[in-house]
Amino acid sequence: MSRSNCRFCGQALKHVLADLGTSPLANSCLTVEQLAADEPTYPLEVMVCDGSYQVQLP
Ligand SMILES: [Zn+2]
Repeated sequence: MSRSNCRFCGQALKHVLADLGTSPLANSCLTVEQLAADEPTYPLEVMVCDGSYQVQLP
């Protein structure tokens, strides 16, 4: 299943190079109120194109 296309050659990205799950933003300066709430997280996944071998975010 393809989630996006290569930004270099346009081919569908099919191969995950590294998937580190999800993580909140680094170096966020949170207030006391924000520390008690759930922090938004973002996927840490990079894919490699099998046409151009460019590694990129999907
Ligand atoms: Zn490509």
